[in-house]
Amino acid sequence: MHTLDPRISDAVLSHVRNRLSLNPTPLGRTGNANDITEALSDLIGPEGRDVENVLSTWATHLEPTVISCDSPRFLSFIPGAPAKTAALFDMVLSASSLHAVSWLEASGAIAAENQVLQLLATKAGLPAGAGGAFVSGGSAGNMSALAVARDTGARRRGIPHHTCRIAVSDQVHSSVANTLNLLGMTALVVPTPGYRLTADALRAALDADPNPETVVGVVATAGTTNAGIIDELDQIGLLAAEQNLWFHIDAAYGGALLLSENFRDRLTGIERADSIVIDPHKWLFTPFDCGALLYREPHLARAVHTQDESYLDVIHTGSPTEWNPSDYAYQLTRRPRGLPLWFSLSVHGTHAYSVAIERGIELAQYAAQRIRESQELELLWEPELSVVVFRRAGWNATDYNEWAQRLLQQGTAFISPSAWDGETVARLAFLHPDLSFAEVDAIIDSMLAENPRSSGASVAAS
Ligand SMILES: *Cc1c(COP(=O)(O)O)cnc(C)c1O
Repeated sequence: MHTLDPRISDAVLSHVRNRLSLNPTPLGRTGNANDITEALSDLIGPEGRDVENVLSTWATHLEPTVISCDSPRFLSFIPGAPAKTAALFDMVLSASSLHAVSWLEASGAIAAENQVLQLLATKAGLPAGAGGAFVSGGSAGNMSALAVARDTGARRRGIPHHTCRIAVSDQVHSSVANTLNLLGMTALVVPTPGYRLTADALRAALDADPNPETVVGVVATAGTTNAGIIDELDQIGLLAAEQNLWFHIDAAYGGALLLSENFRDRLTGIERADSIVIDPHKWLFTPFDCGALLYREPHLARAVHTQDESYLDVIHTGSPTEWNPSDYAYQLTRRPRGLPLWFSLSVHGTHAYSVAIERGIELAQYAAQRIRESQELELLWEPELSVVVFRRAGWNATDYNEWAQRLLQQGTAFISPSAWDGETVARLAFLHPDLSFAEVDAIIDSMLAENPRSSGASVAAS
């Protein structure tokens, strides 16, 4: 088991080579639970099986039942479309068993990860000294950052942890609500005028609150997941500084614009943040899972997250150059998940990233234009990022769901309908730069060509 078997390495590496060569990656489908159970039955027993046999079970029966996030036609949620170079280097991490907890154990790997964090911090306009760690994603980043917001706020105000509250908009990501619950905090929910959190709305909510001194921080979103809406970062940042609030920016999706040459200004105000979360596994084309967490003053995070164990003393030498990623988030053992991005950025350069990111905006603008031109379609929000939400006149929830199912069955696209003010609507999240305008046309035309309610096709299909 611990000696490399050339037959196994050849088989696996050739599978990887084939998978990465697919152009485009097939969309895939959801599998049938019985078929999957059947394929898996008796696979693991006291004696091993031939590698070809196991690999063919994977390739024939399991892999096709995974809808490929890296298919250009994956337009649900927020897709993931790793650069091939990044995906390849991800294998290097696994092959090298890199344990990137501490500078002591993984100095070069951590320095390379930090080079990427520094690039993002510089593009964000954070001061020298800013830094953080790569974590599994936006949820983990939000939780780690808001723990620091809570402890720092409680200390500065001299109030107990459990009384601390965080101001959030009514559009904030679900992970923030979970985080507050886990951290024993409650939210001051600020209603948004037109879905965007503004400084005026935040000020009004604080003014109307009977205990504003318990509000220790505010979360702004740079690109809501549903519609890509960017909160009023600049003004909220000013108000946060005035009111001594920790300013956290959830830029899991939209933070990628830091590397865009033409749309960076949409994030103006991000430089005021105390902490920022950006998910490279979304729009920075990095394999899952990869979230970048940055702090303006990393020592505040160390005070919260450094784990105190006698057997860990050796990693905390106190040297000013040591940087232990485990000190900046709720994590100890970790893989250096920032390295695939570091490698790919180094190989391709930031301009290639800018071009690929901006292609997402171009696709969204193209779709929006098609929607505006159509009598039957209505754009619900002028796209700011790469996601488009719109409605089809006369359709109800069933129509949208059946339409989406048909497109998936035909292999045209994977689209998950979404909600807008409680109404089911269509949503296209673009990300893969290889999607063509013709493919966008095919999706939009599929909504115009058929009206299930009038044709009765929906009845037959169900
Ligand atoms: C995706 C997303 C998250 C959650 O990130 P994960 O990486 O899935 O944990 C949080 N906030 C926003 C705005 C997101 O788009």
